[in-house]
Amino acid sequence: MPETYQNYIDGEWRDSETGETFDVKNPADTSEVVGSFQRSSEADTNGAIDAAASAEDEWADTPAATRGEFLRETAKRMDAREEELTETLVREEGKLRGEANGEVNRAIDIFYYYAERALDYAGERKKGAADQNLYYVREPMGVAGLIVPWNYPIAIPCWKMAPALATGNTLVIKPSKEAPNVLRAVFECMDEAADEVDVPDGVFNFVSGGGEEVGQAILDHEEVDTVSFTGSRQVGEMIYEQATEDHKRVQTELGSKNPTVVSPSADVQEAAETVASGAFGVTGQACTATERAIVHDSQYEEFVEALVEEAESVEPGFGLDDDSTMGPHVSESELESTLEYVERGKEEGATLEYGGERLDGDEYDDGYFVQPTVFTDVDNDMDIMQEEVFGPFVGVTTYSDFEEAVELVNDVEFGLSAGIVTDDHTEANRFIDEVDFGVVKVNEATTGLELHVPFGGMNASSSETYREQGEEGMDFFTIIKTVYED
Ligand code: NAD
Repeated sequence: MPETYQNYIDGEWRDSETGETFDVKNPADTSEVVGSFQRSSEADTNGAIDAAASAEDEWADTPAATRGEFLRETAKRMDAREEELTETLVREEGKLRGEANGEVNRAIDIFYYYAERALDYAGERKKGAADQNLYYVREPMGVAGLIVPWNYPIAIPCWKMAPALATGNTLVIKPSKEAPNVLRAVFECMDEAADEVDVPDGVFNFVSGGGEEVGQAILDHEEVDTVSFTGSRQVGEMIYEQATEDHKRVQTELGSKNPTVVSPSADVQEAAETVASGAFGVTGQACTATERAIVHDSQYEEFVEALVEEAESVEPGFGLDDDSTMGPHVSESELESTLEYVERGKEEGATLEYGGERLDGDEYDDGYFVQPTVFTDVDNDMDIMQEEVFGPFVGVTTYSDFEEAVELVNDVEFGLSAGIVTDDHTEANRFIDEVDFGVVKVNEATTGLELHVPFGGMNASSSETYREQGEEGMDFFTIIKTVYED
């Protein structure tokens, strides 16, 4: 029997009032059930929000040093369980051990980082008139409703929770149905740390279940002051609309269609490795994954050959096996969606240069494995070059001069992460200036982020209201009060 896990509400582990659970399976081998989780209702979610609202004032009045200590104590416990958290993540989401370990360590570092930031993020004194005390303070917004996706199931929740808690907010978080287990384990660490530091019950709450029940209840509740959502464009746009109508502060970080330009000055092998890493790393299941390679005419054939070699060298497999170099898709529906885009690409007249097949046979039979896919002869207006394909999938197109490359880069509705591989510093600077993307990478894959700088997209990739991560990540959770004191 798989283990059954509970919600964490008002300082204790609880079953859902529905009495129902759902199973989470290992996407590399679906005969393995990772655990059963509460199929929570609106009433469960409302209970968690009420608890968060009751704890709001006490937590807001807790000294910043104590809040920081709580985050540090949580990080220490996560650090002590690093290996276990890594394996938990691999078994529910499918990343390779190294990728999962990187993500777990990022989550730990985020807690340490905001433990320090909690101390010096308060406000500022300004010069006023001679007899005037003029300053502003930052106050917590109140109850944060956090809705997160499955693809970074520990890092994304932590980069929302840690700044919210550091600035004195209480929170209710809804994990994805595909990968709730690693966040549940973080809650065990938070629960222990809360005992040690004496954190009031109700400050942090975890409610598992469906978007239409738990997610919707978070949106509907009037005590929720901020909604921070990361996920698909479709759901995000609906959330943004409702939250703004209800006068909640909202941020949405959504999908993308990220390009990498290969300059005539680039080393072709290096460019192919950069694109392959951005496209096939984490099975292409990153919002920052490279899905478009825009290659100068003069380099095209050599580049395609090198990229196909990179794709051929990928060894899909279970993330804890040492010889695997790419994990599975997280679910049957995500796998199907990628395969549908392969068919769409063929129908649109693109050339399937490599891959595009589901893998079967022995080790693949019970998992959601695909080959990495490379399309050529694509036009930028094809669906496969405009819509997000959340898998290891890249289309290669050409350009003849820099202006054309920038036009192609910007000719999508999304705008999260754009890269260029170049040996020309002036060209790189022009690229940085001219692309409408929230993250720009020069000679690096479009994937990969640092925790102490702001992160967010432009256009359809983001609500563009607030950035996440870095000190700027705390702005979303606070409101400024300006004081004039004579
Ligand atoms: P998703 O939109 O399907 O789900 C995200 C979360 O929203 C889940 O917890 C889900 O249960 C919940 N949800 C679903 N329907 C809801 C509803 N009606 N009301 C409230 N909540 C609801 O996204 P996903 O498949 O989990 O994640 C993949 C997507 O996330 C991709 O598009 C990817 O690009 C994007 N993403 C973006 C970033 C970023 O920072 N820009 C980072 C990671 C992932």
